[in-house]
Amino acid sequence: MKISFKSTIDTKLFRLTGQTADENGFECYLIGGFVRDIMLKRKSKDIDIVVVGDGVEFAKILAKKMGKGTSLTVFKTYGTAQIKTQNIEIEIVGARKESYQRESRNPIVEVGTLEDDQNRRDFTINALAICLNNSRFGELIDPFNGLQDLQDKIIQTPLDPNMTFSDDPLRMMRAIRFASQLGFKITDKTLFSIWENRNRISIITKERITDELNKIMLSPVPSIGFFMLDKTELLPLIFPELSEMKGVEKIGYRAHKDNFVHTLKVLDKMAEQSDDLWLRWASLLHDIGKPATKKWDENLGWTFHNHNFVGCKMTAKIFKNLKLPLGEPLRLVQKMVLLHMRPIALSEEKVTDSAVRRLLFDAGNDIDALMTLCRCDITSNNMEKVKQFSDNFNLVSQKLVELEEKDKIRNFQPPVDGLEIMNTFGLQPCSLVGELKVQIKDAILDGIIPNEHDPAFEFLLKIAVDKGINRV
Ligand code: ATP
Ligand code: MG
Repeated sequence: MKISFKSTIDTKLFRLTGQTADENGFECYLIGGFVRDIMLKRKSKDIDIVVVGDGVEFAKILAKKMGKGTSLTVFKTYGTAQIKTQNIEIEIVGARKESYQRESRNPIVEVGTLEDDQNRRDFTINALAICLNNSRFGELIDPFNGLQDLQDKIIQTPLDPNMTFSDDPLRMMRAIRFASQLGFKITDKTLFSIWENRNRISIITKERITDELNKIMLSPVPSIGFFMLDKTELLPLIFPELSEMKGVEKIGYRAHKDNFVHTLKVLDKMAEQSDDLWLRWASLLHDIGKPATKKWDENLGWTFHNHNFVGCKMTAKIFKNLKLPLGEPLRLVQKMVLLHMRPIALSEEKVTDSAVRRLLFDAGNDIDALMTLCRCDITSNNMEKVKQFSDNFNLVSQKLVELEEKDKIRNFQPPVDGLEIMNTFGLQPCSLVGELKVQIKDAILDGIIPNEHDPAFEFLLKIAVDKGINRV
């Protein structure tokens, strides 16, 4: 039976595309991610079109026909073209047959039929085509039962998975990414083949791997993807530091928690709170320094002293290695890793104004992000403990708001600056000026003086006397 999706795709743009194809003797199909996303009623950012014949040639004709406000980019090396109009992007490619050699990701490409083109696609759910030519407008061509797999939420390859993954090992990452993004199951055979072919990942560039990692990070329940990376043993190959977090060690009856499992719980909780990629990375890396700092102490049990400092250093290395951006995102993630225990530590003791002001000073504008991370970090199974933490934590949050309103510490600017200090005492720039500034800052954070100019200036005069410095 031929299934028709005529009404689903009956738009002016697709009619025009089909008509242009008819006039110029091309077979023309919607394909790949775009068709998958229509079926899933998911927003798709780009439209994938395949024509039998010269795709670039067809793209040129179509762009002309679409007229004003349309731009065309041709990617000669790939034999593909992109048409942009308003906020729609159309990717056009000629149907192709691909054959791979072992050492390279780049296949030998020949002109092919629609069938050849569907065979080279990575998964059955990504190989569906819908015809745009007028006589068959809306007809579904689904040689691998991709529609059924979409309904059953299954990811599997159209051909032998060993061939699909060995040809282009990036597809292993894509399989896990789709499973995580869509909440689909990878079939046992496909998953086993990923495990078998895992070492082939070495021929893929870091950038492409990280692209997929970021898509896993941004999926609704990111732990799904990371557990699969672990199960298939891809994880130690692409992200050894995270893999190191796995496992529980026991001395006597005393075990520490599995930091990998804990981390993924924190990441999932963060994913419920925020779509921000970097806050999610901060959750993933907050305890990354634990394996390197783990020690057994007869009195304390398992300890991870300074794991935040070590983690902060490791974060920079990991960002460099994975080719993640080294500017603002790295700064934020490092700061979160470094400070992630502070609000918790604070809420374990008596919550003093001075400690809260210091936290505000150190976190600055990132205080809200830090508090979100800390809330996610409370994952104990002991409900009483969780409640006690949460109560104290709420107190810290409340105090943060009160003190911020009163003292404006978040974007702390010293009320008396270095220049005023130098002018007051006739000093040249020297370490003494710095010391005086620090003493004023500490007095404000400790609540000895308010964060205002006149009281700060008076305080300065007083400490100057103690140091034997005279006013000019
Ligand atoms: P997304 O756009 O969410 O990243 P997608 O599946 O649309 O996912 P694209 O990179 O846009 O991915 O690719 C479009 C289509 O091209 C895919 O649906 C698939 O049919 C095919 N494709 C992309 N990458 C590969 C690959 N590495 N191997 C085989 N086919 C691929
Ligand atoms: Mg796409």
